[in-house]
Amino acid sequence: MNRPEPAAFHTVAESEQKPVVLTGDRTTGPLHLGHYLGSLKNRLMLQESHDQFVMLADAQALTDNMNDPARVRENVLAVAMDYLAIGLDPEKTTICLQSALPALSELSMLYLNLVTVARLERNPTIKEEIRLRGFERDIPAGFLCYPAAQAADITAFRATVVPVGEDQLPMIEQTNEIVRRINRQTGVTLLPEAAPMLSRIRRLPGIDGRAKMSKSLGNAIALSASPQDISHAVKMMFTDPDHLRVSDPGKVEGNVVFTYLDAFDPDQEAVAALKSHYRRGGLGDGTVKARLEALLQAELAPIRERRAAFETDPEKVRAIVAAGTRRAQKITQETLDMVKSALGLFCL
Ligand code: ATP
Ligand code: MG
Repeated sequence: MNRPEPAAFHTVAESEQKPVVLTGDRTTGPLHLGHYLGSLKNRLMLQESHDQFVMLADAQALTDNMNDPARVRENVLAVAMDYLAIGLDPEKTTICLQSALPALSELSMLYLNLVTVARLERNPTIKEEIRLRGFERDIPAGFLCYPAAQAADITAFRATVVPVGEDQLPMIEQTNEIVRRINRQTGVTLLPEAAPMLSRIRRLPGIDGRAKMSKSLGNAIALSASPQDISHAVKMMFTDPDHLRVSDPGKVEGNVVFTYLDAFDPDQEAVAALKSHYRRGGLGDGTVKARLEALLQAELAPIRERRAAFETDPEKVRAIVAAGTRRAQKITQETLDMVKSALGLFCL
């Protein structure tokens, strides 16, 4: 028999190492404020205490962009530059390229046998994204199955922490179902379950007032936005459509400018005062927007400056991704070998 003893999978050494974080972003466009508040800020913190892997999810981006692979390719280094610009440090965070990790595809194929089509169709994020993308019944099979691929991503690194926005919670739940299934079947704790790490802002709405700022919905403010882009985006921001005159009482709920002030303004007492003034009437959108714009300009200027330095040296960024990917190849292949062996596949 080529099946190792189950005890061989209790890797004591692993538990003595730092806990592992895995997360990533689809390379469909530059990163935006939603990523920043929903996940990137937590990653900055986690890289100090964890072994963190951050994945450029180009393979997942292809599941709904196969008609435009150039977009996916072009955004690989763009997203990597965003990572470096916000302060992810390649000495502490391993940045890797998903499509260059073949073990992930192999794990996905195994996991697809552990989920049903009905379960994939019930996944609330998949349901919502199918609706937003207008797929109706023409759903690419790869798209429908991406929760299994995401389970492969998380488990391949044996990650226990996944810093994400709220939209990703169903993916982690489905990952853990697969983990439990594998562990039950193999009779050992082969793979760890993963816990999401949410931030205070679980889901930043788009500037158009839609529920989520998203690259694909064209309602985002990029971290690399120019001062003019920021200014324009704030001017376009959805407020209260019934607040026609400055003297009119206005609504704060669903008013994106106030939602962003909640998220970005360090002086929450001042925000509370602005809200009650707005509700009473007598406070114009322009005044509130000017405050928000100043905050966003101040927050994004240093990121844009650091990014400009990396833009002049794309080869350096490519080398960082290449080195991170080599490390990730080794770890993901180890996990694949472990899973295949534990499941009792024929090993040559
Ligand atoms: P796409 O439209 O291509 O799906 P996206 O803008 O949704 O892009 P993803 O790459 O799918 O971005 O998401 C990467 C990570 O950022 C995930 O953890 C996701 O939860 C988080 N995230 C994305 N948008 C937001 C948002 N508006 N608020 C909070 N977190 C977000
Ligand atoms: Mg998304």
